Amino acid sequence: MSVRVRFAPSPTGGLHLGGVRTVLYNYLFARHHGGTFVLRIEDTDQSRFVPGAEEYIFDCLSWCGLEPDESPRHGGAYGPYRQSERKELYRKYAETLVTRGYAYYAFDTPAELEQMRETNRTAENPSPQYDHTVRKKMRNSLSLTDSEVKDLLEQNTPHVIRIKMPEHEIVSFNDMIRGTIQYETGLVDVKVLLKADGMPTYHLAVVVDDYLMKITHAFRGEEWLPSAPVHLLLWKYLGWESDMPQWAHLPLILGPSGKLSKRDGAKHGFPVYAMNWTDPRTSEHTEGFKEKGFLPEAFVNLLALLGWNNGTEQELFSLEQLVNAFDMERVHKGGARFDYEKAKWFNHEWMKKLQISDLRLYIEPILTANGIVVKDAAYLEHIIELVRERCTLLTDFVQQASYFFQAPQQWDVEAVKPKWIEEKKVFFETFTEQLNALANWNMEAIEELFKNHAAASNIKPGELQLPLRIMLVGGKYGPAVFQIAELIGKEETIDRISKSLPLF
Ligand code: GLU
Repeated sequence: MSVRVRFAPSPTGGLHLGGVRTVLYNYLFARHHGGTFVLRIEDTDQSRFVPGAEEYIFDCLSWCGLEPDESPRHGGAYGPYRQSERKELYRKYAETLVTRGYAYYAFDTPAELEQMRETNRTAENPSPQYDHTVRKKMRNSLSLTDSEVKDLLEQNTPHVIRIKMPEHEIVSFNDMIRGTIQYETGLVDVKVLLKADGMPTYHLAVVVDDYLMKITHAFRGEEWLPSAPVHLLLWKYLGWESDMPQWAHLPLILGPSGKLSKRDGAKHGFPVYAMNWTDPRTSEHTEGFKEKGFLPEAFVNLLALLGWNNGTEQELFSLEQLVNAFDMERVHKGGARFDYEKAKWFNHEWMKKLQISDLRLYIEPILTANGIVVKDAAYLEHIIELVRERCTLLTDFVQQASYFFQAPQQWDVEAVKPKWIEEKKVFFETFTEQLNALANWNMEAIEELFKNHAAASNIKPGELQLPLRIMLVGGKYGPAVFQIAELIGKEETIDRISKSLPLF
């Protein structure tokens, strides 16, 4: 049997950390077993359709390097992979269920449904269900005669098809992470299978498509556990029980207070989506890991560890190592706490780990977008090597690298002012003349000149280094100041000192 897994998002908005982790675990499992990773778009709820959301999902997967094998874009033998394009095929399964007595037509109008809720609402039961206690009293094929039903159908009376949940039955399945899970059907929320517009609901479509697409393992978030008994019954009622995929319900990702939410991110200033997302309906913007300055290598690594480990202390894994090591049985049951400081640690480690030439490909566009002109790739790689230890996010390179390409536009004058004396000004005036005459432009020679001149001026060199840094860099950061001078060159060094000196 060859492994076939699927990620089945509804295109309703940005892709949350938890969603990408579901993609990742699917992908790792498929690759580990030499199987196939399917991406199916679950867009049967037309009222929740959001333009751009599907493209966004594909972009996120590409950024993470988690390309599906089959999808609406990649094609495959089990398409179409967009449920809205499969609309016609679901009705016959819903009708099969009616014929077998496992589902029924329901003709109730919205007003009748509201009436039912109103009549049955109590303090203990604020939102009454269309369950076995009321269904015989409603307008459906359980309460009406066959000929009444036939007439209503012939008159095209709006209707839905509902599953006939057994009153009291125990159903169970074996979750790959959680072991045996049991349900009492009388306590399960009752679901519609086919809506009045002819579209299936998620519950019918997920079962039909997992069957038709020959899915062997279905991994999804634990928020889907309450729906599992409905799906189990549908697999059984459709006669496909022996083909049912093995399920695993992945643990929640927890934020500072309960389930990690967009609100947590906004409140604490960290991203919760893979990439920036602006909701076209509300213009609400949610920050993404990509734009925040995360490497996809680090993002994938940190996600893998949110709920899984290989049983050792190892934390840094490449995608290839994850593919080799991943094992669904080692995924934890309990929620996985997201720690943004730890996320940044992963990024920092990956920034140190990556080949400079690969790192350059991520950094160069960020610098360009910030108006920094990079003419020489080798020069940029040299700079990256020099400052990468100091950067946690890719975006940190804007500050840490820009002064190698252009003079600062602002100077932290306040850092120098309190200890500034006229003698220091004189020192720098004459220092620029000496620099001009310096034959070998290298950091050792510049440093020696600086120290000798400081001694001759009777000022401690330590007192002069910070002003020099502020003049060349603009702020209190960067590698050794003489190294910076060497790299930006003689003319530029002299120019920056002369131009900023009057500010102090
Ligand atoms: N369409 C569901 C979602 O948006 C998929 C759940 C599943 O994988 O069964 O999460």
